[in-house]
Amino acid sequence: MDEVGCRRKTRRIHLGSVPIGDGAPVVVQSMTNTETRDVEKTVNQIRRLARIGCEVVRVAVKDKEAAHVLSRIREKISLPLVADIHFDYRLALMAIEQGVEGIRINPGNMSGSRIREVVRAAQERGTVIRVGVNAGSLEKSIWVRYGGPCARALVESALSHVKRIEDMGWTQLKISVKSSHVPTMIEAYRMLADATDCPLHLGVTEAGTLLNATVKSAVGMGILLHEGIGDTIRVSITGDPTQEIPVAFGILRTLGLRLVGPEIVACPTCGRCEIDVAGLARKVEKRLLDFKTHLKIAIMGCVVNGPGEAKEADIGIAGGKGRGLLFKRGKVIGKLKEEEMLERLIREVYAMEKEREEKK
Ligand code: SF4
Repeated sequence: MDEVGCRRKTRRIHLGSVPIGDGAPVVVQSMTNTETRDVEKTVNQIRRLARIGCEVVRVAVKDKEAAHVLSRIREKISLPLVADIHFDYRLALMAIEQGVEGIRINPGNMSGSRIREVVRAAQERGTVIRVGVNAGSLEKSIWVRYGGPCARALVESALSHVKRIEDMGWTQLKISVKSSHVPTMIEAYRMLADATDCPLHLGVTEAGTLLNATVKSAVGMGILLHEGIGDTIRVSITGDPTQEIPVAFGILRTLGLRLVGPEIVACPTCGRCEIDVAGLARKVEKRLLDFKTHLKIAIMGCVVNGPGEAKEADIGIAGGKGRGLLFKRGKVIGKLKEEEMLERLIREVYAMEKEREEKK
């Protein structure tokens, strides 16, 4: 497998202004859960997602009304918009006509002859197509041949559709082969990575609520990303999609792939703990949800390991009796009462961001 740096080499595609593949940073996506035809609610949710770092957004287009409002949504947002379409090729044509940057189709549930029309329209407008195969909606013939949605079955389905689209002359494509079974998903993406130079969109489908989804996504996507596989990612979490973005960036940051946002290092706490580390860490995380600069922030409970760890961070607090030490780039810059810690830390964090901006 060829690599760019430590990434798998792929063709470059563009979702609007966002480059994907061929060494571009791994892109973080999400999907709205509003009724798409409710333009106001959908736009508000997309803006919330954009504020916390989402880079591409997908909306469900399940009927003509939803397809009709796509251009109105698009003109009110700054992110590339991807229309998610199943079954009805006419919705795909309408979405392309409305100017979306991408469509996601599952060719397994769309008639082959109709896909030709969709591809032609996409080619004329420069619309990216994601061929999104899901274990739950695999074509019957492949399902029967393999006896279920195993990795080979998912890959065969995806590659046959991609080949058909490429034979029609359109190569602005990406592929996903999602499964809720993490080992299957890993195996399928590895096989795809060896078989095609298309950018790959990673995801674990139906991953569940926050805790489960975070674990499954971090394991499944983390392993693949560490192997250089994956060009866009979505962490699927049941409920509010804004939960997905910090988890996605957390995975990328942990692997050193995107150094954005605050990296909060908090001690696990023990009997020596002298401040409310968990409460403070949670509050800091919440307050810095839309903070984009990469800073390592340490919150430590006592003076045993606290000062050492806090010194390693860009900024940090080490708790003590009634007071805590505030460290910035290894130096103590203040002694704070517990009730002062949150506001002071946040103030210092924004000041550090400003300093960095000014240095650029
Ligand atoms: S930093 Fe202190 S309070 Fe926190 S786990 Fe270590 S020893 Fe315990």
